[in-house]
Amino acid sequence: MTATSTAATALLGVYARVGPLFTAGEGAELIAEDGTRYLDFVAGIGVNALGYNHPVIRGAIERALATGLIHVSNLYRTEPERLAEELVNRGFADQVFFCNSGAEANEAAFKFARKWAGKPGIVAFSGGFHGRLFASLAATDRPEYRQPFEPLVPEIAIVPLGDRAATERAITGATAAVIIEPVQGEGGVHPVDSTWLAWLRELCDARRAALIFDEVQCGLGRTGTFFAYEQAGVVPDMLTIAKPLAGGLPMGAVLLKEAIGAALAPGDHATTFGGGPLVASVALEVVRALAAPELLASVRRNGEWLGARLAALPSRRVRSVRGRGLMWGIELTEPAAPFVGLARERGLLVATAGPRVLRLIPPLVVTREELERGVAILEEVLA
Ligand SMILES: *Cc1c(COP(=O)(O)O)cnc(C)c1O
Repeated sequence: MTATSTAATALLGVYARVGPLFTAGEGAELIAEDGTRYLDFVAGIGVNALGYNHPVIRGAIERALATGLIHVSNLYRTEPERLAEELVNRGFADQVFFCNSGAEANEAAFKFARKWAGKPGIVAFSGGFHGRLFASLAATDRPEYRQPFEPLVPEIAIVPLGDRAATERAITGATAAVIIEPVQGEGGVHPVDSTWLAWLRELCDARRAALIFDEVQCGLGRTGTFFAYEQAGVVPDMLTIAKPLAGGLPMGAVLLKEAIGAALAPGDHATTFGGGPLVASVALEVVRALAAPELLASVRRNGEWLGARLAALPSRRVRSVRGRGLMWGIELTEPAAPFVGLARERGLLVATAGPRVLRLIPPLVVTREELERGVAILEEVLA
């Protein structure tokens, strides 16, 4: 430590943090040190699906603390058994592996696919984002994130999304897994066509490759169904989740079919913290809250309303509006970043998704009145 280091410079400069110092939150609002309230349509990058200070999360953390168990290790039986059962009961999967982030979930899914398939190839798509670790980064279509760290994991290809000929060439007899986000998030909020997903499903079956849906951002209620794939009617072999899973505590998971799980034996993969009792018991209550039919119905209703309002934005700067549920992207005809700053000055937090897209991923508990306030600020800012 040098004499000149301060609290701000002691943090590694990999994040460009901006704005006020936030010290509290309530519902869909973040509250700054000076008391100013901000409508938060970023929600911790899709993590805070239940908003801030939600009684379900507070109660779950308090009950978990009362047991005295924060961590026990995966050497012994604890809480994640109930969470795994809950997730299995809600979808296609037979088994679950718990880890600590979205990237970790995708890395695990790649390992599981390679072990099951006995071959190395992994195919991903343009516009996709799967994380910042070596294999998940290799599957992520952001050259500027990748290049400084090459060589990444070999045998991972990125194919133009929607290009059937290129996809047929890339998915070969040596392909273990194909990974895709049913609604791409970081790449600009692109809902992927259901017929494309169905076609991929057939191609994966024909080549004996595992189809992985990365629902780290679009899953767990965000698009108006518990899993995004339900709307496409196409079922994966593995599915990864993370962001909102444990209400802001770090947790990721891989959901998988038994056929793949059967290829994995003790020692094949592990993580010290994965599925600890505190995080898993909080996630159990978060998952139940996010799967509640009334919540999902309100996400669909509010999402339709929001989509219609955004499509009608009276601005020449808007090129197109895309989304599903409470996950929307506004593609502009110019760089999006300046508008993030202008919205923040007026009390609305929004994110970008790529250079020209403004992304709205509010808490799923956001009210219609709050959405109206947010849209009014966007109208002003984009005018
Ligand atoms: C955020 C994200 C990840 C990476 O999750 P981390 O928890 O940041 O590692 C992976 N896939 C998608 C679709 C994401 O949005």
